Amino acid sequence: MRHCCAFKALDIYYLKETNLYISRKLSFGFCPICSKPVAELYQVRFDGVSDFRSVSGIKADLMVNALKSEILYSMRECNYRKFKIKPYGWKYGVNKAVKIKGTERIRQYAYDFYGNKEIIKTV
Ligand SMILES: [Zn+2]
Repeated sequence: MRHCCAFKALDIYYLKETNLYISRKLSFGFCPICSKPVAELYQVRFDGVSDFRSVSGIKADLMVNALKSEILYSMRECNYRKFKIKPYGWKYGVNKAVKIKGTERIRQYAYDFYGNKEIIKTV
């Protein structure tokens, strides 16, 4: 995203297609220099012409509000689903010894590199 400088979007929303536009994406973030909210809408018209709009300040809030009902899902939500529910991607096993009712048991966990774990079995 761009305002006083280039910066990373706080979130990206994927919007529903309309009769006129496809591949619709709305980015939202705050400019790190002037701290104004910035919204960027990118969409492709049915005839292949891409349409890009960038607004800041109150207009950014208005644009996000106006498009709210057309949001299918957000990047954040998508990442959250991918990474927080179950270990994602490359996993490694960790065995932990625990005492259950005085006997030692081994709990096997699958860990991923995002800090998520899932218990596989207790031996
Ligand atoms: Zn700025």
